[in-house]
Order: sequence, then structure tokens, then C-alpha cells
Amino acid sequence: MPLPRFPAYIEGVFEEGSSTFESIDPSTERPWAVMPAATADDVDRAVRAAHRALNDPAWAGLTASARGALLHRLGDLVAEHSETLAQLETRDTGKIIRETSAQIGYVAQYYRYYGGLADKIEGRCLPVDKPDMDAFLRREPIGVVAAVVPWNSQLFLSAVKLGPALAAGCTVVLKASEDGPAPLLEFARLVDKAGFPKGVVNIVTGHGEACGQTLTAHPLVSRVAFTGGPSTARHILRNTAANLAHTTLELGGKSPVVVFADADLDSATNAVVAGIFAASGQSCVAGSRLLVERPIHDRLIGRLVDKAKAIRIGDPQNRATEMGPLATARQIAHIEDVVARSLNAGARLMTGGQRHGAAGGGFFYEPTILACADQSVACVQEELFGPVLSVIPFDDEEDAVAKANDTAFGLAAGVFTSSLTRAHRMIRRIRAGVVWVNTYRAVSPIVPFGGYGLSGLGREGGQDAILEYTRVKAVWIRTSDEPIADPFVMR
Ligand code: NAD
Repeated sequence: MPLPRFPAYIEGVFEEGSSTFESIDPSTERPWAVMPAATADDVDRAVRAAHRALNDPAWAGLTASARGALLHRLGDLVAEHSETLAQLETRDTGKIIRETSAQIGYVAQYYRYYGGLADKIEGRCLPVDKPDMDAFLRREPIGVVAAVVPWNSQLFLSAVKLGPALAAGCTVVLKASEDGPAPLLEFARLVDKAGFPKGVVNIVTGHGEACGQTLTAHPLVSRVAFTGGPSTARHILRNTAANLAHTTLELGGKSPVVVFADADLDSATNAVVAGIFAASGQSCVAGSRLLVERPIHDRLIGRLVDKAKAIRIGDPQNRATEMGPLATARQIAHIEDVVARSLNAGARLMTGGQRHGAAGGGFFYEPTILACADQSVACVQEELFGPVLSVIPFDDEEDAVAKANDTAFGLAAGVFTSSLTRAHRMIRRIRAGVVWVNTYRAVSPIVPFGGYGLSGLGREGGQDAILEYTRVKAVWIRTSDEPIADPFVMR
């Protein structure tokens, strides 16, 4: 049986591509589909198409409300096709169907949210300090957007970029990751069906060097919205030195979850499990560093070990499965390496620590808990992007803050306590773009998201994200009928 083929989408045309690669099913380690590998020439054509569409009356002539209606239609189509999209994402990335189905509900919500904001992007009149002048600001679309996403949550991470970009009137070339691109290539069919004019949204996939670099350095690109790892982000910044595109970066994390002795332990235990073992830990906000107040340290570890051992690992398409495989061979090798180095450096293995044997192969790794005396070991320092929890004890609030902030990252944090005053003190002092109190991993289009330090630049989500896809034009109008006086004096 020939493998199914997925096309790229450039200027309204579905193209199988002159060059292709096979996508691997992470739960079997076998190729299951053929993807188009965009060449530098394909990317150039896509950017030029987006640039033509930007000023074409078919798009530029639409009212903001009409752009909003298109985004609503896209949201509705995503909801209608959610089952197909979820199955494809599960097949291509190994993320369990329970997670992909729920996340696609959010994807639809993000498009509708930004659809609603399209006609609320307002300019401003300024009380200018000259009696014979009026001044006002217009917000205009920033231009062609290069959106680059990683393999985990591709539909979701694209929605947080395409939603505000299209609401603002920009056009987009979206680069799906070379790992697990199927759901985004399928999503292109919904963009087409929604009725966006040709060239407004173009979707390609391919390898970072050939495809991502050409895209982000392209002279016709004005805006780069990137999600991925910090080392790729440095490449992106070098690429945008060429076009000076306005750039936002959503990067990795080593997020602390701080549990005080007065916390509701049942709730904290479930939240910690959700934070690190959901999506097999392949989440930028994974709560991978658990900081526990010393009196409850052993008790909480005991509960977590019991929960970890009971997790149902297996076929990600089965709704009963709680943890699927990791997405790639590269990913599982990286985790094995970090865990081995951490054990050598003195971390104590509480559970897991090896591949999970499944008859049909697959990149399965056991839910793993490592007890660490301090934060010097590799598993505490490095982002693993896998189901590995490092547990570190702390003595008091001061110690908890110092340990929580002892990282180059600053994406998210969780605080579990029954003291309202302590919660507020912790919120003020923790260095992270998102702080969850007595909960973890909550998400909404209404709330901005982004990191401090190596976790990124800028914010996505929420109303203000739309402004990042606009430029301000300042307009001056002289209201006097008198002739202009001395031409050699600045007015
Ligand atoms: P990655 O950085 O390797 O790749 C991300 C994307 O960049 C891919 O599409 C890749 O092809 C592209 N790319 C690679 N080299 C490039 C280059 N030179 N120029 C332009 N593009 C290039 O990331 P990954 O391994 O796919 O994903 C995991 C990382 O993503 C983790 O660090 C994770 O924390 C991060 N992430 C962050 C968030 C967030 O919102 N903060 C969300 C999810 C994942």
C-alpha cells in the first residue's frame, strides 16, 4: 500500500512538492505518510505570494469585520473537523487522543476570539501641542508574517499566531515542523474552505536550515513569530538581522512547581502529575522542577510514585491511554542521556528511568521521578521535554523563591499553598511569565502567555498580542488656512 501523501499549500494551490520526506509514526517507529519538503525556491514563492496578497484588494479591501467573519468561519471549520485533526496529530506526534481532542477545542476558540477582535483594533487622536494641527495614529498590518512552530501542539501554536496576524490584516507563511506536520497540512484545507483569498495563508513544511532559514531571513518578511527551543531562537535572530523583522520568541522552560506544607496535597499531587506527565512531558510549560517544603517531601514523593506507576501507557489513539510515546527517536535519546548523567551525579531514582517496552516498538519512556539534593544536576538544569520530574526539597519561603528563580528560563510556575498572603508574596517574587496558584496548565485565548529570560521575547494570546502584528502610522493635518511661514524653522 502506498503511503498517504500530504501537500503544501502555496497561493491557494495544493502542491505535493518536488522533494519529499517520510513521517514516522512514533508509536510504531515506522513511516506512515509522505510530506513535501519545501525547498528555498518553494519558500520564496510562498513569501512572494503572501506579499502580493497583502495589497491585493481581495484581502486589503476587506473591512475588519469581514476579516473577523472569515476567522469565525475558520474556527467553526476547525470545530467541525476536530476529530480528523486530532487523529492526525495523534498519529504523527504520538500525543494521546484525549489531549489532542481537547486542545483542538481551544484552537477553534482562539480563531473565534481573534475574529471578534478584528474590528476592535483602533487608532487614536492625540491632543497635539500645536493649535493649528490635528494628529492621529492609524494601526496598519505589519506585513508578511513568517510563523515557525515546533512539533508539539502545532495546530495550537499556529492558532496563537495566525489568529492575531489575520485579524490585523497581515498575510502569513506558516512553516510546520518537519516532525509531525500532518495536522497543519490538513488544516490548510480548512483555510481554503473558509474562503481566505489566495496567498493570504500559505503552509509549508521542511527542515530548519533549508526552509526555516530562507523564510525568516526573507527580505519581504516583516514579522517573525517563532516557537521552539532557545538554540534555534538564536539562529532566528541571526536570520532576522537580514530583514530586521519584528520578532517574538516563545521558547522552552524549566518551570518550578512549589508545594508548601499547608497545601491541599490531593490537589497538588494531581496538578504535579498533570504538569509533568500529560503530553508525556512534551510541553513548554511542563512543571519539571518540583520544589517541596521539607516536612512533606517524602510523603509527596510517595504519592507521586504511586500515581506514576499507575499511569496507563500505550496506543495514543486509545481513549483510555494516559501517556503515549515521545515524538521522535532524537527526543528519547536526549532524555536517556540527561537521566544517565543525573544519576551519575547523585540524583536518586524513585521510579521509571528507562524505555517502556511495547510489543510494536515506539518511543515510549516510563514516567520518571528523580530526587535531587540540590539543583546542580543535569535533570534540574536542562530542559528535557519528556516525562521526567526532578524533586528538590526547600526549607522556607526564602529558600523556595531562591530555588524557583535559580534558572535561566522563566516561562511558568505553580504555587500550592492555603495561605493567601503567602501566595501573593510568591506571585510578586517568582520570575516567570505565567504563575498558576493552586492549579497548573490552565490556558485561555483571553490570557497572554510568554516568558522571561531564555523562555522568550514578547507575549502571545490576549488582546494586546494583536498589536504586535500592526505598525503605528502617525498622521499630521494642518488645520490653518494661513500660508506656511518661515520654511527654515521647524514647526
Ligand atoms: P526547534 O527549535 O528545534 O524547532 C522549532 C522550529 O524551528 C521547527 O519548525 C524547525 O524546523 C525550525 N527551525 C530549525 N532550525 C531553524 C533555522 N535555522 N531557521 C529557522 N527555523 C528553524 O524546537 P522543537 O525541538 O521542534 O520543539 C521543542 C522546543 O519548543 C522546546 O524547547 C520547547 O520548550 C519549545 N516550545 C515552546 C513553547 C512556548 O510556547 N514557549 C511551546 C511549545 C514548545
